[in-house]
Amino acid sequence: MYTDSHCHPDNKRFDSDRPDVFARAQAADVTTMLAIGNGDGPGTGTFDCAIKLAAQYEGVYATVGIHPHEAALAKPTDFDELSRLSKHPKVIAWGEIGLDYYYDHSPRDVQQRVFIQQMELAGAAKLPLVIHCRPSDNSIDGWDDTLRLVREHWFSTALGGVMHCFTGNVEQAKTSLDLGFIVSFAGNITYPKAQNIRDAAAIVPLDHIFIETDSPYLAPIPHRGKRNEPAFVTEVARQIGELRGISAEQIGQQTSQNFRRFFRITD
Ligand SMILES: [Zn+2]
Ligand SMILES: [Zn+2]
Repeated sequence: MYTDSHCHPDNKRFDSDRPDVFARAQAADVTTMLAIGNGDGPGTGTFDCAIKLAAQYEGVYATVGIHPHEAALAKPTDFDELSRLSKHPKVIAWGEIGLDYYYDHSPRDVQQRVFIQQMELAGAAKLPLVIHCRPSDNSIDGWDDTLRLVREHWFSTALGGVMHCFTGNVEQAKTSLDLGFIVSFAGNITYPKAQNIRDAAAIVPLDHIFIETDSPYLAPIPHRGKRNEPAFVTEVARQIGELRGISAEQIGQQTSQNFRRFFRITD
């Protein structure tokens, strides 16, 4: 059994064969998925994209939120809409939200403000966060700001969250754990240059790890360069299993258990 803790099945790259993508996930024993509800961003009426899929497919859960790329487009009405949608029973987290200093699609001060605003809304909705953190090249600026803002604006809620597609170092992983976060690893853990990610994955306690695809992005080896999909989360499990000296199946089992425990899923 495997759980893909972060995917974008609403993405238009799945428009041609979405039912087949879900069928292949089932066939690969990927029984649970968290669909990320950023949609096409503010003003596009698509914040419910993940909710729609969660309503349609068993084992699929949803988030809502504004991605840091689109922070500059956020208006007060968007926050109202997100709060309204967050009450849907299959919405189990707020995200992905955070800071992206690599692309800088929105000014950094705006990214920070929209991140803080959404932490306030998530706290009111009593939902944990899914955080996206990407620093600029050869820098830890994004990590410093993300971890500081979480400490100042989120830690006291005790709701925790997920550091999705973790690309930081051992120290940043430890700080994330101290802040009550789960560390989620994606397909880039299989890339030759990603030794820092493997080092972090080797020290995070097994009961605080999630695995994800972030599909359609970041396909793991041997699918690198192609469209990613939830079925490929097994390759992430295989890599972490190798690091920890246990089977991919055991990683799948443990991370599925972690997911259900963290999000209090009982059905
Ligand atoms: Zn992300
Ligand atoms: Zn994502």
